[in-house]
Amino acid sequence: MALFTRGSVERVKEAVDMVELVGARTDLRRVGTRHVGLCPFHDERTPSFSVNAEHALYHCFGCGESGDSIKFVRETEGLDFAEAIEHLAERYGVELEREDEDPRAEEDRRRRDRLMRLLDRTATFYARFLWDAAEARGARAHLAERGLSDETLRTFRVGYAPSAWNRVLVAGQRDGYAPAEMVAAGVAQPGRDGGYFDRFRARITFPLTDPRGRVLGFGARAVRDSQKPKYLNSSENELYRKGRHLFGIDHARAPAAKAGRVVVVEGYTDVLALHGAGVEETVAIMGTALTPEQLTELGRAATTVLMALDADASGQEAMLRAARAATERGMELRVVALPEGSDPAELVAAKGAAAFERLLSAAVSVPEFEAGRVLDGADLASTHGRDRALELIRPLVAATPERSVVRDELVRRVTDRLEVPASYVTGASIAARGGAGARNGADASSSRDPGPPGADSGASAPRPPEPATRAPAEHAEQAFLAMCVGEPTPGRELLERAGAGYLSERLLPVRDHLLEHLSDPLADLPEDESLAALITEIAMLAEAEPSSEPVLRLSFLQLELRRADRDLRAAARERDYDGQRTLLAERERVREQLAELMGEAG
Ligand SMILES: [Zn+2]
Repeated sequence: MALFTRGSVERVKEAVDMVELVGARTDLRRVGTRHVGLCPFHDERTPSFSVNAEHALYHCFGCGESGDSIKFVRETEGLDFAEAIEHLAERYGVELEREDEDPRAEEDRRRRDRLMRLLDRTATFYARFLWDAAEARGARAHLAERGLSDETLRTFRVGYAPSAWNRVLVAGQRDGYAPAEMVAAGVAQPGRDGGYFDRFRARITFPLTDPRGRVLGFGARAVRDSQKPKYLNSSENELYRKGRHLFGIDHARAPAAKAGRVVVVEGYTDVLALHGAGVEETVAIMGTALTPEQLTELGRAATTVLMALDADASGQEAMLRAARAATERGMELRVVALPEGSDPAELVAAKGAAAFERLLSAAVSVPEFEAGRVLDGADLASTHGRDRALELIRPLVAATPERSVVRDELVRRVTDRLEVPASYVTGASIAARGGAGARNGADASSSRDPGPPGADSGASAPRPPEPATRAPAEHAEQAFLAMCVGEPTPGRELLERAGAGYLSERLLPVRDHLLEHLSDPLADLPEDESLAALITEIAMLAEAEPSSEPVLRLSFLQLELRRADRDLRAAARERDYDGQRTLLAERERVREQLAELMGEAG
């Protein structure tokens, strides 16, 4: 079910000033009826990015990114549809109406809102106390010693909790909060005598925020050595869940989307130090092993995850498991080798940002990293030691995708060091291979969509090709089909044109079904369960994410452009010169239509 009423979503879209929205990300210049600028999605020197203010569309003639205001916010802020709507509603002052919410859900939401307001006020209180109070002098000195600038500390709303027992409690009560609410929000605790006291006292506080910057809890660090424990977090409550959190994600999402990577570190100060050094796409996991929830959140930020953690703290099994889970989601996990006993904050302070950037670019895949550890620790002088190392390395090699650059490189490195033939290294048992390898094998026979030029540039990168290259293309196709359902009049015409070549084989039957049942896609669902599920998914997408005719047309032109590019590559391979000429003209025609759509006057 849609979260917001269609009417209020429409009002949000109408209220958006597209030139202002995009202009906040990249400078736009007016050319005729459209606005052009440098693309915020790829690096370029001459502008190929254009904005149509009237239809609130954007399109890049360089990298092919395009969409409406909602897609723009989703891509640049790393938000989902509902979050993007809320973001825009807030920015342009539109009141959102929710679809009939049951009274219980509404009450829960109001309570959450109230507790979050309390947490936000508390964060402001702590932050002010850090800068103003004489008592916080030691804390300020401690932070400055770590090389953290005032600006960074203020960006992350770092604060200081007073040493008194009830400052937050008193302030909260003055604002109309009951002690029980303050306990629920995690800022106060019940005492033995039936009273209450502040949970955090005489500590540096770090607000733990959700991806949208809303405070859900606090992490607090002791300033004096005598204080135990050194780190104290909010206890688990209705808002804060340990293991779901990524510290700094609200500041990291947009830079991560732009950089195509997100850096994962251990602690708060590492995030602050790297942010200050310009590596803004950094988050902390605040624990040892990466949880599935955190991985999901990271995947929404970027497809490449660089783990800059203390190597010994995270176990090999946990890292391999995380790497496999990442691969299954079309993501890639790489390990940054940190010099022993140093953390990113110290490294940046001692060696500078450029040195850390070099470490980041030298990051290797998890199996490679683990194999390196085995080799470094092995007794290579003895035959027994080499056999032992081989034994440990075989499962690591087996954990890499077959026929991949990662595996080739790993095998080469190991055979060089151990002086054994490659078959000694690759001869792992099938059973040890695990789920990922088996899946890749099964998928290898299915048709592989080469995708648009540029989108498959990752093909030579060390990752298994199936999930990584197929997902974005299919996503665009699914969005197109959903828009056809949402805008049935132009939708029918475009669906008829979008035959083989426009859509992947998996989605062609969906298109056929929609042509028959465009007004009611859920009628006469086919017996094939996975096909029926796909149709249902697309019908729900159409319901949940209403679109508009110009966006639909834009989406269709992109499918057309992609088809033309693909046919063109095929013709070039076959040295079919006549075909190439025809296709070049066709592609030019599509590009002209795109330009026209982007520059249409009202
Ligand atoms: Zn671009």
